[in-house]
Amino acid sequence: MISTVRGVHDILNQDTPTWQYLEATARRVFAQYGYGEIRTPIFEKSELFARAVGATSDIVEKEMYTFADRGGDSLSLRPEGTASVVRAFINNSMHRTLPWRVYYMGPMFRYERPQKGRQRQFHQIGCELFGPQGPLADAEVMAMVMAFFAEAGVVGNLVLEINSLGCGECRGPYREKLLTFLKANQETLCENCLNRMERNPLRVLDCKKATCGEVAKAAPHMPDHLCGVCSEHFAGLKSHLTILEQPFVHNPLMVRGLDYYNRTAFEVTTDALGAQNAVAAGGRYDGLVAEMGGQSTPAIGFAMGLERLVLLLQQNRVVVPTVTVYLVAVGDGADGAGLYLAEQLRRAGLKVEMNLNQGSMKSQMKRAGRSEAPITAIIGESEVGTKSVVIKNMVNGEQETVAIAGAVDFVNSLIENIKRMDHGADR
Ligand SMILES: [Zn+2]
Ligand SMILES: [Zn+2]
Repeated sequence: MISTVRGVHDILNQDTPTWQYLEATARRVFAQYGYGEIRTPIFEKSELFARAVGATSDIVEKEMYTFADRGGDSLSLRPEGTASVVRAFINNSMHRTLPWRVYYMGPMFRYERPQKGRQRQFHQIGCELFGPQGPLADAEVMAMVMAFFAEAGVVGNLVLEINSLGCGECRGPYREKLLTFLKANQETLCENCLNRMERNPLRVLDCKKATCGEVAKAAPHMPDHLCGVCSEHFAGLKSHLTILEQPFVHNPLMVRGLDYYNRTAFEVTTDALGAQNAVAAGGRYDGLVAEMGGQSTPAIGFAMGLERLVLLLQQNRVVVPTVTVYLVAVGDGADGAGLYLAEQLRRAGLKVEMNLNQGSMKSQMKRAGRSEAPITAIIGESEVGTKSVVIKNMVNGEQETVAIAGAVDFVNSLIENIKRMDHGADR
């Protein structure tokens, strides 16, 4: 018996409908904002991630799947999506056709300790927008993220948190002030924070340890030390979000893990999975394209983890039925009549499962219930005789006998009714 590698899972056919539903919702919503899909390779030269994500970052130092191919080149499975998209932007000279709006979806790989909602092969959906420099772009991107969550039916105290991380002008002086403060309080900091304090003092601000949290609260905060341009940008973003009637929280302690972010950083968090957790995160990275050897181009993007969203949907009981009509056939001649009707319904575009194991009416109805199909079509001996079928609305339990010849039309109008009922309930 060969099992899967630790931290890696099959996504079985009973779960893929939820994944496909999320992916389809993302495609639909992102297209409304003018985004098209980009598909970059799963593996790249290791050097790409070292340069984009940072050679000394945890991701590159400890978590990447890096290997030498048969030609001796060092390659890595992608640990995130932005580096590849930036590389593609540069390789394909996309700076000539700005703005460039793309989204991606697919597996990413990190060697981390597996836990609920965190796998070594995990899946992300992300968007990147290249070109626009002002806060209008930031507000539009955030509106799109929130529209995606609303469309997908992801509920449960979603909070849009924003912050400004400053720019090359103002971050350096702020960093010095922060470091001075942290050094004065270093006996209170955890070991991890002490180790990375000199290298990246900002990360102390989002340390999860309570004692570090107290220091972080009292520390100087970036938004109070922004330069004129950054400060105007941040005020612009807040004003645009207000016009959109999009609630937000300014969290001065949110710093994001990656060094390439500047100015706007944001997260969408929820308390539905225990502690307040991010379900989407992103920010502006105006310097990255130039740093990677391209023509300097401002950009902003975000990514969200699909594993968490799938958990949230399952928790919210957003049921994505795989089958619309379950067909039950019992008695002499019912098989043939059922087979015929199932085919007619499928030709009309419906998803139909016919019970193929025979069995009693009771056991077949049980299977119909388990399928979660909103409609069951039942053919017994008497229906065979009268060329009819019983159509049962599984949502409210009502049923009606209709002629086989009119069954497709009847089922179609019943589906419309059920959809209306669903919206009335305002799930
Ligand atoms: Zn600045
Ligand atoms: Zn700490």
